[in-house]
Amino acid sequence: MKMLINGEWVAANDNEKLKKYNPVNGKVLGYFPAGKKEDVNAAVDAAEGSFDEWNQLGSSTRSKYIYKAKDLIEANRKELEELLILENGKVVRQAEEEVDGVIDQLQYYAEFARKITGDLVEGTSATRKIFQYKIPYGVVVAITPWNFPAGMVARKIAPALLTGNTVILKPSSDTPFTAEWIVRKFVEAGIPRGVLGMVTGRGSEIGDHIVAHSKVSLITMTGSTVTGQRIMQKASANMAKLILELGGKAPFIVWKDANIKNALKSLIWAKFWNSGQSCIAAERLYVHKDIYTEFIDKFIRVTKGLKVGDPHTSDMGPLINKGALNATDELVKNAVDSGSKILYGGKRPNLDERYSEGYFYEPTIIENSDQKSTLFQEEIFSPVIAAMPISEIGETLSLANDSKYGLASYLFTENPEVIFKFADSIRFGELYINMPGPEASQGYHTGFRLTGQGGEGSKYGIEEYLKLKNVYVEYSGKELTIPTVNDNLFKNV
Ligand code: NAP
Repeated sequence: MKMLINGEWVAANDNEKLKKYNPVNGKVLGYFPAGKKEDVNAAVDAAEGSFDEWNQLGSSTRSKYIYKAKDLIEANRKELEELLILENGKVVRQAEEEVDGVIDQLQYYAEFARKITGDLVEGTSATRKIFQYKIPYGVVVAITPWNFPAGMVARKIAPALLTGNTVILKPSSDTPFTAEWIVRKFVEAGIPRGVLGMVTGRGSEIGDHIVAHSKVSLITMTGSTVTGQRIMQKASANMAKLILELGGKAPFIVWKDANIKNALKSLIWAKFWNSGQSCIAAERLYVHKDIYTEFIDKFIRVTKGLKVGDPHTSDMGPLINKGALNATDELVKNAVDSGSKILYGGKRPNLDERYSEGYFYEPTIIENSDQKSTLFQEEIFSPVIAAMPISEIGETLSLANDSKYGLASYLFTENPEVIFKFADSIRFGELYINMPGPEASQGYHTGFRLTGQGGEGSKYGIEEYLKLKNVYVEYSGKELTIPTVNDNLFKNV
């Protein structure tokens, strides 16, 4: 595969390549360019050079490229689905769902072309007005993770391009091929040279350089909190605007009057979707003590039915890489060592030899009543969930809010008192009541605390890519009276 710099598909400056492994069997899947600082500079120069012309096109014209790319993706969607299965290990239905999401997002953002508005504000007199224009920032860097490698790319580049910014994409080193496939569709759609670029390579090598580049005005990044914090420090060099979508630790609360079947269906989705590798994954299960035993028994029974293995024929595929698998092994081992009880799973599954080197882990349910434990405090990001019984609304709210992250949360109850107490007091960017996620294009995906800042989706997400410029105008044509300037000075003028 190649990087896209100034409209050309190129190798890295020094031709270095990195390996990408297949999560299903641990074998090398392919190679991609290890971009260098020189590649970043060339991509930024091209993005800066093409900005004025792209901005002058106007949003309606720009949206046509997004519609066209959407049509091309839709027409070839099977290819993208297979790539997601191969590169990420997604199971078929989830790959299809992600591609649906990509198409939906491109459509949603393109439709916004005629909805971008500014304000005309009264000035300090009848003949004074203030025009508040929304203008693009300039060069945007979009840094994406591997867990939704197509959806995240679409959700960043479409609003950035629509609003008149030019974009350089830096995809995850775990999913460069999916990113390349999508960028190629924008190129086929005729996107002008330089307007969209893509640089691949180690975030640890080129990340600092790209986010601290003096010509970059906005960085939109989805990934871990640690990386987000580093980006924040480095980007301060230029005061670049930041949109940071970082870690999550969703509480999943089942009250005593919940519709148990709906709660279970949603929990299976919220925990084992994408093998638990989702920022909105249920990570902490709080079940009312009156139904705890019944609910957990049913949860175990349903979980036992999940087939883990080949993504083409299973309910749950592998983790993304060996590091993620080892981290899960260690997390579960430490949990057991510190007194947690494994109710189901807790090890790598026994699969046939074709998959023995793959990064598979069993869906795992652990009982633990220590809110301060790693299981309840740190992001798990694998198919492991910790459960504890709860009893009071106030106490449950405190437990739910007791997290350094604040992205998604889930509540199952028919009780209006519980619903409104949670809706009013939960300190999370998203609360799903009696339903699963994921977030919709027309919702604003945002989080509290270490989940980051800014958000994506809805008009608020689009406005993140627009800066407000104020133009003051006086149109009476009369001589100005400026209170702090002496008029006598101007008698002979
Ligand atoms: P990550 O390791 O932080 O990587 C994310 C991206 O940042 C990758 O493209 C990575 O490149 C790049 N990067 C690494 N170091 C960098 C640096 N110093 N400067 C600039 N970029 C750098 O995260 P991940 O493992 O891919 O994703 C999992 C995390 O994302 C989880 O914490 C999850 O909760 C979060 N997430 C959040 C949301 C949300 O909406 N809030 C959605 C999805 C995922 P390389 O791959 O080359 O290292």
